[in-house]
Parts: sequence; structure tokens; C-alpha cells
Amino acid sequence: MKTSVIGYPRIGGLRELKFASEKYFRSEISADELEKTAKQIRLYNIDLQRINNIDFIPSNDFSFYDGVLDTAFLLGAVAQRYTQLGLSKLDTYFAAARGYQGEKGDVKALAMKKWYNTNYHYMVPEIDDSTKIELVGSKPLELYKEAAEAGVKTKPVVIGAYTFLKLARYTGSKNAQDFAQDTAKAYSKLLEKLSELGAEWVQIDEPSLVKDMTAQDIELFTGLYKNILADRHGVKVLLQTYFGDVRDCYDRICSLGFDGIGLDFTEGKKTLELVKANGFPKGKLLFAGVVNGKNIWRNDYSKTVGIISELAKYTNDIVIGTSCSLLHVPCTLENETKLADEVRRHFAYAQEKLGELGELKKILASGDAQAQPEFIANKALHEEQRSGFNAAVREKVAKLTEKDFVRLPEFSEREKIQKAEFKLPLFPTTTIGSFPQTADVKAARSSFRKGELSQEDYESFIEKKIAECVALQEEIGLDVLVHGEFERNDMVEYFGECLDGYIFTEKAWVQSYGTRCVKPPVVWGDISRAKPMTVRWSKYAQSLTDKNMKGMLTGPVTILNWSFPREDISLRESAFQIALAIREEVLDLEANGIRIIQVDEAALREKLPLRKSDWREDYLDWAIPAFRFVHSGVKPQTQIHTHMCYSEFADIIKDIDDMDADVITFEASRSDLTILDVLKANNFRTEAGPGVYDIHSPRIPSKDEIKAAINKMIGRIPVQKLWVNPDCGLKTRGVEETVPSLKNLVAAAREARDENS
Ligand code: GLN
Ligand code: ZN
Repeated sequence: MKTSVIGYPRIGGLRELKFASEKYFRSEISADELEKTAKQIRLYNIDLQRINNIDFIPSNDFSFYDGVLDTAFLLGAVAQRYTQLGLSKLDTYFAAARGYQGEKGDVKALAMKKWYNTNYHYMVPEIDDSTKIELVGSKPLELYKEAAEAGVKTKPVVIGAYTFLKLARYTGSKNAQDFAQDTAKAYSKLLEKLSELGAEWVQIDEPSLVKDMTAQDIELFTGLYKNILADRHGVKVLLQTYFGDVRDCYDRICSLGFDGIGLDFTEGKKTLELVKANGFPKGKLLFAGVVNGKNIWRNDYSKTVGIISELAKYTNDIVIGTSCSLLHVPCTLENETKLADEVRRHFAYAQEKLGELGELKKILASGDAQAQPEFIANKALHEEQRSGFNAAVREKVAKLTEKDFVRLPEFSEREKIQKAEFKLPLFPTTTIGSFPQTADVKAARSSFRKGELSQEDYESFIEKKIAECVALQEEIGLDVLVHGEFERNDMVEYFGECLDGYIFTEKAWVQSYGTRCVKPPVVWGDISRAKPMTVRWSKYAQSLTDKNMKGMLTGPVTILNWSFPREDISLRESAFQIALAIREEVLDLEANGIRIIQVDEAALREKLPLRKSDWREDYLDWAIPAFRFVHSGVKPQTQIHTHMCYSEFADIIKDIDDMDADVITFEASRSDLTILDVLKANNFRTEAGPGVYDIHSPRIPSKDEIKAAINKMIGRIPVQKLWVNPDCGLKTRGVEETVPSLKNLVAAAREARDENS
């Protein structure tokens, strides 16, 4: 029994790569110094895996920004606007990743997208008709050599040809198929060069195979690999899949000439079934992904041993490994100094997962798994009664019935009642919630956390900020106001800290994109609302104005999606527990005189399963009801808003309407308002505020520009249903651009109002 790791986190245990890169961006260190940090991290990671007896250690899993971008550079698929700048190799790469503005030119970055169903983002390669795909880079070769020089024979890793061509954006008239031959040739050349260096195995990652595949996709995949594998130049090729099962192409994969096949037994619901139904080809190695690369819990050895013994009926050539790259979990528990031991022993970050692979290897090789001390200890751990059980919450969730998810009276009735109640003008203006988190806000929070600022002083500081924010909005002339969210560091962490059942880590950073890392909180036990979370701030803000103050909450699906979820109860159960807590807050706000309440579901779209056939059963069937439950108890006069960050929800538009909010605001400006046609075609019922300008850039939109956006919306959304707002919260913006932007927004809305009434 051997062990394999698909990829290892590259940010460094204390985010060394992030800090070095940011220094480099600010010209505080040289490229050589940045490279030195990078090399240290790479060699440290490889050594750690060697010490843990990992048999297949990856190289080239390192990246300065993103692995897909690396692949684009490897294959020469880089838009000319970057290569023409005349920058160094490294700076050209960063220009594509982050954009470039300087003496050599002004170019925007490549688009960024979510990496399958993770919170990691990749850079979308652009391919135009003149792109010539060929092997021009050498990073996999250099990193293989670097590891070899350090005495470790690694398994170089590259993103596969099929996945690369599927993820790329084609800006001309050619498509993936048109580039297939050249791409296959480039990969074949890469195999040849790696073979010359002495590599024995190469891992080719093809996560796109776990998505729904058309017949054409299967042909593309088959064609590519017939070519690539025609001459392997003596290296063995591992086809690595992850994030699901390969039900559409399992037989193809088996019949092609791969030497190893990597399958995901953690997230792939049908993986075991596929092997049982079709067998596994003789003479190939099965790389079984059994240690979860996406979550921080210890592996359940008895479950893993069960899977492996099932598999052993079909093949003897099994390698155990991680279910995907460990990029999606934090580096090491060693830097967590504050976790109680009772909690800590249930956690395994990347480094600890290496230890688990070692233990599993020993257990599985022993012939009598159950008798091994590591197995017995692990079993006891999983049978342990964990703290955080809340019988009352469990019972409430168990008792939910259909009517708990239904708000009455129905939408059209409520809409009438609310029109009469609020008497808002046509095209009411509002913002998404947060106002600029200026340096004074961050400084006050940090002094408060360090104990330098008393609770009383901190709270009066927040009140002062709220009062300024309310006055500012009145001056600008917005219709529905917000308190500004100055008390919040983050829209999930803030609520997590107010909820029982959550645990916070100190150093559990995970790369989100480039140098940006997130530290998701952990759902440890049953969730309940320990205390009112936002009431005092909203109530205070409302007391300062005659206009309506929107209460501001994060929804249950988003809270869950941006946390490490439990594995001992279902996501559905956790979502309902969180929904129960948020519902209590909604009712509390209502009881305290807040008449408009926004429940953000920024991340609703994010965890939609990769396969359409799994959407309902595995996700929407509980996610939408969880949201509905949050607001089904309010009075008809209370207006419920929701907000979503991306408008990539054309395919679930009915479900969004079915959340039954009264108003939804979302991003639309960056996607050229294309979503509006979808709203129209589907007779979208919920009132809507498609963002009229992009808050992700410091640019100030002119009144006319905003007016043009509003005009585009009129006609697609009935005027009585149209709201005017920016496309997301303003917390990352400066005051300098926020104030004039909002003034222009109000002026544009007023103009539109005059013209349409
Ligand atoms: N209410 C939040 C804010 O304005 C929403 C943030 C988000 O959608 N990411 O900051
Ligand atoms: Zn948003």
C-alpha cells in the first residue's frame, strides 16, 4: 500500500508567500527575494511529505498566483496585451493575474472564476484565433529538478489538457476542438521532457471530468488523450480526478492507456458504485482519494478501511491519497495555540492529513486493521460524545413542517400592503449595507480586541460612526438607509462569533485567490443564537432618522457555505439550525421597530453541485427552504430584502424567486446587465435592484452612466419593481469615491423618476 498527495498548500504556514508577494508588488523586495521565499516553502513542503513517508509527492503544485494561469503560460496561451508590455517574465505573469498600470501601459487582469465548488478562484485563460498552443514554459521541469536536487523524487503535477481547454475563454471564432491537436502535442512534449529528467510518474489533473459531459466533451477528452498517450516516452501517467465522480466517462478513462487513475471517494457519490459495476482495469494503479482535502476533520479510519476493503475485491493495486489538493485546507495545527484539546484532537489540517495517510498505510498493510492501536484510537475519537449538543435546537429542527417555510399572505398581496405602508418613490434608492471601513474603524476594533479600548468606548465609537453614516445618507438623499456595518469585521465571522456552536481558529488560512486568504470559522456543535446580534445597532440607527433603516443580516446558506461544515450531521441539518438562529434575530429586529430587513445570501450560488442532476436533492431542496424559514414569521408589512454577489444565477432563476423575498439586489454591472433579459423571460416576481455600478473599482460613475444603466433596466423590469443601488457593499471603498458615486446615483434615480411618473 502506497500513499499519494495530489497537491499541498503553497501559501506557507504563516502566509509567508502572501506577505512576500505583497512586498514585491509594493517594490519593497526584489524578484530574487520573492523567489527565495517561494523556494523555501516548496522545499519545506516536500520535506514534510518525505518525513511523513508519502510515496507520491507532488511537485509543480506551487504557484505564485494560480495553477491555471501557470498552465496558460506553460502552453503559450497568453493574451498579447500582457506579452507586449515588455515586462520581465514574472511581471508579465503578474500583469495577467492582477492587471498592470504603469509606465509601460494600462491593462486589466484576466477574469477570475470560482474553481469548481470550492472557495478558490482561478484565472480564466483567454484564447483567440491567433493563439498558438505549444510548450513554451518550463516550470514543471524546473521544479522537478529543484526537488530532485534536494534529494526527493517527485511526481510532477499539471492541469490536464481537457480541463484547460474547457476552462479557457475563446474570444475569436475558434473553439476548444480547434486547439486540441496542438494542445495534445504540447502535453506530449512535456511528458518527453519530464521523462528525460528522470520522472517516473506524472499526475495530470482533470477535475472537469466530474462535471456533466456531453458526447462532444467525451470525444474531446478521448481525442486529446489518444494523442497524448500515443507515446509516453517512458513516463507513467496518472489521470487525477477530484471534486466528484466520473460517471459520464468512467469506461473511457478505463479503456485509455493511463497507468494510474485517481478517483475521489470522498465527494464522488457514485465512485464506489462505478468501480463495483464496471470493475477496475488490470495493470493500472487505482489512486483512491479517501482523506478529505476540503475539510478540517480527522479521517474516519473505519470508514476508509471499509472503502479500501471493498475496492480490494476489484483490484490489488491501490494507492491511498487525498481526495483533492490540500490547497483547500489550512497548513498546520501547530500554529493554533488557543484550541482546546477536546476540539483540537478532532482536527486535521494539511500536515496532520499527511500523518493520517501514514497511519492508514500502516493499518491497511497490517492485515488486521481493527487490531492496530491507531485504528482503535481513531475509532474511540469518532465515537466520543462531542460537546455542543443542543437538544432544544435538534427538536425544533426535527419539528419543522411545510408551513414553516411559507410566508403569508402570498407575495402579490404583500407587495400591495407594503406599497401602501412605505410609500416609497419610484426607483427607491438604497445601498447594500456596509460603508467604507476606514482606518479608524479597523484601528478601534483592533484596540478593542487587544483590550486597549474598553467595551464602553468601543461601543460609543461605533455609535458615532453610525450617526455620521446616517447623516451622510440623509444628506445624499438615499431613500432606505443602512447603519453601515462598522461593528463587523466580516459578514460571516461576525455572526459566527455571536452564535453558540461556532469555533474560531487563529491561523487556519486558506488561499482564496492570489494573495488573498480566508479563515473560515468551524461549525463545531449545534448552532443557536446566544444573544441578539445586531438589534442594538439597528435600533440605534433607526432612532436617528425618520427614514426607514434596513436591518442587516447574513443568511444561513452563506454562513454555512463560508464555514468548515460538520460531517457528523448533514448540511441540511446545519443550515436549518443556523436558519433558526437568524430567524430569531429577524423577529427580534421586527419587534424592535425595524421594518425592512435584509438577509444577505451572497454565497448561495457557490455550493450548487457541479452536476445538474444533483442540484435539487443535494442542495436547493434544503437551501431555499432554509432561507424561507428565516423570514416566514414576519408581518406582511415587514419588507424582506436579500442580496447576492454574482448574477450568475440565470439557471436557478426560479429558485431565486422562490426564496420569496420582497426585494433582491445583486451584481449586474460587470456582466453587462445580461441577467435582466433572464429576469424578464422568467417573469421574475421579486422586486429587483440590479447594481447600477461596480463597487469593486475606485472609479466614480457619472450620473449619465448610471442613468443609462437605469434606462436599460426599465423595460426589462416593471418600473414599480425596480430599485436603484450599487452592486455590493461599500466596505472596501474609500469615502472619497463613495460619496460622489452615491450622489450621482441619487441624481440619476431622481431624473428617471421625473421622466417616468
Ligand atoms: N451587506 C454586506 C455588505 O454590504 C454584503 C456583502 C456581500 O455581499 N459580500 O458588506
Ligand atoms: Zn455582494
